[in-house]
Amino acid sequence: MPSKKKYLLGLIGYPVKHSLSPLLHEAALSYHSLDGEYRLLDIQPEQLAVKFDELKRSGFDGVNVTIPHKQAVIPLLDEVVEDARSVGAVNTIVFSGGKTVGHNTDVYGFSRALRDAIDRENIDTNWSKSVLVIGCGGAARAVVAGLCEMGFLDISIFGRDFKKSSNFVVELANSLGPRGQLLIEGSMLRSVEQLNEESLSAKFLLVNATPAGQNGESLPDWFSEALARLDKRTLIYDLVYSKTEYPTILEERARALSLPSVDGLDMLVYQAARAFEIWTGRVVPTDCMKAGLRRMRSD
Ligand code: NAP
Repeated sequence: MPSKKKYLLGLIGYPVKHSLSPLLHEAALSYHSLDGEYRLLDIQPEQLAVKFDELKRSGFDGVNVTIPHKQAVIPLLDEVVEDARSVGAVNTIVFSGGKTVGHNTDVYGFSRALRDAIDRENIDTNWSKSVLVIGCGGAARAVVAGLCEMGFLDISIFGRDFKKSSNFVVELANSLGPRGQLLIEGSMLRSVEQLNEESLSAKFLLVNATPAGQNGESLPDWFSEALARLDKRTLIYDLVYSKTEYPTILEERARALSLPSVDGLDMLVYQAARAFEIWTGRVVPTDCMKAGLRRMRSD
């Protein structure tokens, strides 16, 4: 009788030791009574090529990819699926038949969690189609791609470093294909000092795609001042997530101002569920992954 398959999964990034991904994937393995493990693999940027080569020969079925490797890993892959190529970032890799294939499940995770939040908070999506994204890193790529896919093309992108932000918009617009031209025409690129009355007026959504407020750090003053000027209907979507039962700093501030808000935990769960499905062919009820997190939160 053939021995039962054991899945070998993991996360590459630097640093990864505080990641919640093992809880999510172990809950999914257990739900389907699959044998396997999910390992955290710290790989420093300068070691990526060598370590990735070793990984390919180590029996892994798949890995997730996080900061700072989501873009750097692309040239090391045999194939990148269209969705990931258009975002210019890979967060899920499949090792199969000696080949490596890159996917991006962050776009799905972001969009699905946004739809849930709109329903849960009973947000009127017709009052404005204008969106504000703060941050120009890897996560912002998935956010902007997801927004374009959902038909939000009036996107204002705010970054701390104007040169980096300009490169971000041009690169992303190029890789998004036909939607990229619309992004260039519809979006406005600004620096955070320009978060003024005019740029904050009538926004349906504000997405924080920066680590601002992570690990209990206070929000920069410009961020707090911007929140206070928003219309009370603006949905605040913090990609940062809370590892405790308490809200993130940004959500706490939003609630104090009576603004509807959501943190990044649902996005984390949805992107993980999609990655698990890609690796194993099994659909995971996201409630089962959330239960894994709740157990950790109550410890
Ligand atoms: P990244 O590639 O390092 O980009 C971070 C961006 O934020 C850059 O534009 C950076 O600007 C800016 N930034 C950094 N620190 C800042 C601060 N204190 N104030 C204002 N701007 C700041 O990181 P990322 O992968 O995009 O991740 C961003 C955040 O999203 C992280 O907290 C990450 O944990 C979270 N995230 C959550 C999920 C989820 O599933 N919920 C998924 C992906 C990421 P400079 O370029 O000027 O440094």
